[in-house]
Amino acid sequence: MVNRTFAYPVVRYVGFVPQILDGNRIRDQIKAECLPRVERIKAHAGRPPGLAVVLVGNNPASQVYVRGKTKTAGELGIYNETITPSANISGDDLCRLIRSLNHRPEIDGILVQLPLPGRIDERKVLLEVAPEKDVDGFHPYNAGLLATGQPGLRPCTPAGVIEMLRRYNIPIAGKNAVVVGRSNIVGKPMAMLLLGENATVTICHSKTRDLPAVCRTADILVAAIGRAAMVTADYIKPGAVVIDVGMNTVTTPAEAERVFDASRLEVFRKRGSLLVGDVHPGDMARMASAYTPVPGGVGPLTIAMLMRNTIEAAERRTGLLC
Ligand code: NAP
Repeated sequence: MVNRTFAYPVVRYVGFVPQILDGNRIRDQIKAECLPRVERIKAHAGRPPGLAVVLVGNNPASQVYVRGKTKTAGELGIYNETITPSANISGDDLCRLIRSLNHRPEIDGILVQLPLPGRIDERKVLLEVAPEKDVDGFHPYNAGLLATGQPGLRPCTPAGVIEMLRRYNIPIAGKNAVVVGRSNIVGKPMAMLLLGENATVTICHSKTRDLPAVCRTADILVAAIGRAAMVTADYIKPGAVVIDVGMNTVTTPAEAERVFDASRLEVFRKRGSLLVGDVHPGDMARMASAYTPVPGGVGPLTIAMLMRNTIEAAERRTGLLC
């Protein structure tokens, strides 16, 4: 095992056994709630909700993500189709494709799987998605609705985190929340959603000074960084609720030694790689009062929230929701 020293004295959090926030359980609840809403739309509009996924090129990770999304849509009775332009498509042609989906009445949600090939301007493409069909919640119009506290389609991963906290009855109002990461798809909307729930919110990023000290002020700490197990015990206030959004693959034995306990190391040695979040799993379990594991925490919620957004978009477009 690698020894680590901390700038801050590490107190073992011994208040109680930490609660593991089970994303699979919450995902199943959300999916079960979707089923009657799909039936209601079918009865009202004479068609199911419709989702179009645009998958450009042959990125294997993107293909896996898209398969997960369309499989879940199928399970819930949501009509779905995947459009697969070649990696050579021009930005203008991709914009034209999205405009054609905007005009199709049976399509309620449009999802452009990211990342797009580097030469295509992602921001320009995402601007083409009609805001009422923007089930990823990435369009600036929807970001503006979120920032001004108005109803609208919310980005799926941060919205899933709020669902998780609500369904585990974790109070948010009045708490100090620290979000590490300021991306448009996770960090910023996460901070806005927590603010909307009346938390006092701090957003941190790569230029934040003394990040561990800022993180230690958090009653609710959200890590959305993209760096394997970067958040260690000295970032976590004893008893904090820790939400680990990160999904990173550990591939080197030295990194695995730093990150995993003996049983996970065993799995790592067999597989040669293993998923880890942005928070050190052992430190999180030792310091937090409640936390999301990786895998099985935030990850499963993203697709469930995408389905919910698609249904919400269909409800609005068919007049079931104002
Ligand atoms: P991103 O766009 O790369 O943003 C990362 C953020 O982390 C940036 O704001 C960056 O700061 C900050 N950061 C990077 N290094 C840092 C450091 N050393 N100290 C402090 N802040 C630092 O990533 P993302 O798309 O938001 O995703 C974040 C993580 O969540 C990734 O692991 C991703 O795989 C995961 N994710 C999971 C799901 C899910 O369904 N579970 C969904 C989406 C994303 P700057 O802005 O200053 O560069």
